[in-house]
Amino acid sequence: MTSVISTAISNALIVTCLAPIVCYGCRRSRCAALTHSMWIVLLVKFLTPPLLTIPVVLPWLHLSHVLTQQLLITWASGTCLMTLIFIRQIIRFRQILATRSLIDPTATRELEEIGQRLGVSKAPQLRLFDGRVSPLLWGWGLRNAIVFPRSLWERLSLQERRSLLTHELGHHIRGDHYVRMLEIVCMCVYWWHPVVWCARYRIEEAEETCCDAFVVRHEPSRTYANAIMATLDFISESPCKTVTYASQLAPASLQKRLTAVMLRSQSERLSRIGWLTLFVFCLLLLPLHPVFL
Ligand SMILES: [Zn+2]
Repeated sequence: MTSVISTAISNALIVTCLAPIVCYGCRRSRCAALTHSMWIVLLVKFLTPPLLTIPVVLPWLHLSHVLTQQLLITWASGTCLMTLIFIRQIIRFRQILATRSLIDPTATRELEEIGQRLGVSKAPQLRLFDGRVSPLLWGWGLRNAIVFPRSLWERLSLQERRSLLTHELGHHIRGDHYVRMLEIVCMCVYWWHPVVWCARYRIEEAEETCCDAFVVRHEPSRTYANAIMATLDFISESPCKTVTYASQLAPASLQKRLTAVMLRSQSERLSRIGWLTLFVFCLLLLPLHPVFL
């Protein structure tokens, strides 16, 4: 038990030291794919076991026995509470989906056609939802589902619908639903650590940019920009307050997104230099495990 806690603390300290460097590097590179990968590696570091130990002298880390116990009880209580909150919210959204959404055969055929064109062997389910949420990929069931609001579906043109479905399929192909799971595990265990919350925001922002880049590689950018605007107009009328923990459209940094869509200035893929940077970063970071003397 003590070794698990000491690993968790040393991982948290390494991530704390590296987060500003990652933040600065990602801002300089302006590459969404690299930003996405680097922040994911930081989240993974929170959970990695010790591989390469380095002795570090930190006298202030030696706390009294009583204080250590109190801190551990607070940590464990917070983790239990966060886990219960997440489980409750996920179950609640599943129930909402079951009662307020249906699988429409015509819409499903439309999605499967797009999926075949993109080389997706098994497309997610497509559920038309009675409510004001933005289209989203829900990855908390046995099979992934794209949730698309019925009113928005009827309001958009065929091409606009196709572009939004391509965006959600982009999330499915990239495996972004697994990243949501990683985020939630890190948020439960390290609920007190600001880097976890910052990483979640940065990852989701970069993810949207990557999926936008994926869409404009397959669909006309102007149609897609119109579809984004129509979606934001739709959800702003009376947004559904339910927390979904899914990959979905957010109004944040809209101008930046639309500019990137119209100029096609981003790529969802890492360049060779990007892969090399990521490889070196993983090699240096993941095995490190300081042992406090
Ligand atoms: Zn998205």
